[in-house]
Amino acid sequence: MNQPAQGLMAFLNESPTPFHATAAAIGRLKEAGFVELQEAESWNPKKGGKYWVTRNDSSLIAFVLGSDLGKGGFRFLGAHTDSPGLKVKPRGDEDKKGHWALGVEVYGGVLLATWFDRDLSIAGKVCYLDRKGATQTQLLDLKEPVGIIPNLAIHLRREANDGWKINPQKELTPVLGLAGADKGDLKALLAKKIKGAKEVLDFDLFFYPVEGPRLMGINKEMITGARLDNLVSCFAAVQAISAHRPGPSAMMVLNDHEEVGSGSFTGAAGNFLESVLERLLPQPEDRGRAMAASHFLSADNAHGLHPNYAEMHDERHAPVLGGGLVIKTNAGQSYITDAESSGRFQSLCKDKKIPFQHFAIRADLRCGSTIGPLTARRIGVRGLDIGVPNWAMHSARETVAVKDLGYLVELMQAWLGE
Ligand code: ZN
Repeated sequence: MNQPAQGLMAFLNESPTPFHATAAAIGRLKEAGFVELQEAESWNPKKGGKYWVTRNDSSLIAFVLGSDLGKGGFRFLGAHTDSPGLKVKPRGDEDKKGHWALGVEVYGGVLLATWFDRDLSIAGKVCYLDRKGATQTQLLDLKEPVGIIPNLAIHLRREANDGWKINPQKELTPVLGLAGADKGDLKALLAKKIKGAKEVLDFDLFFYPVEGPRLMGINKEMITGARLDNLVSCFAAVQAISAHRPGPSAMMVLNDHEEVGSGSFTGAAGNFLESVLERLLPQPEDRGRAMAASHFLSADNAHGLHPNYAEMHDERHAPVLGGGLVIKTNAGQSYITDAESSGRFQSLCKDKKIPFQHFAIRADLRCGSTIGPLTARRIGVRGLDIGVPNWAMHSARETVAVKDLGYLVELMQAWLGE
């Protein structure tokens, strides 16, 4: 099997939540010799050193320092660790006509209809009291299918195929147990799963579809799976920085909370990246000069042309799956790409014989955005937004092309080494 595809699928299986994606990335960085730094401690970074630091176990920054310790600027790679989904409410246990159900909030711009009739599991981060009374946290993944949101039979809603408005409060409650079974208690269930836990205090838990990613199509040209937006880019970035040899300084930033606007201390609108840069380059002038010499490659999936809905794209800016990396441009600055950054990127693609395509939204539609503009604004760096073309963005199951994944890994490596 194609190597990046195999690697991506293993990464996806390890990463049902942003916490797990961060842990999966850290595992790979450690194997590549990266050393942990803690924000609560003082740092003494060395020339040629490779480091990583996390915030909340859900955002991650990793960097390789050149002999100038970053003064000559960084080649940045950015992506986001989170994906739209269903987040369990703090007091989620519900008795629905005797059934054990778990109340959820919708996290991000979910294509709600895709969550019906899927075998769901639960994963995330749990905070608990241990037997000595100390507060601890642990990542947890139940792995087994434990819940389902059943559709209503067509006979009971004849107009279902004409479309209906989904009320998430009423209709999107996963069912965990049948009427007559024991009264549900999620915290008690979690406490049993965590060794040494006396009591579970709280959690950040998400439902996720247990069906794993797979190769798809007559010629196995596609990859289907959950959370391809944006774990495809996270995976490629981790591969690239892991393979980076000290020369130019390189930095990867993977932020949580992109799907809900990035406005948290782990999100791209927070100060995580800025604070890391301040530690590495404490003098404002050094930092200013370094940022002026830096380039930020912000990677997030792009809308690939859907053969059944081709009219939703501008014909001349309609990237196809398998057709190469997508350069995203928006006059309203929803993407940071400008002529200069796009030109540099195109010339690198041409050198490496990596195909690229262009995306610009139809003039009568509103454009989405990503971490690029937030980061560029915060640290004052030039860059561009790119990504692999994707079908069904924000569905519980998305599709990308094997070829495009390979291009992304290759391009990111070249980008860091340039
Ligand atoms: Zn995304």
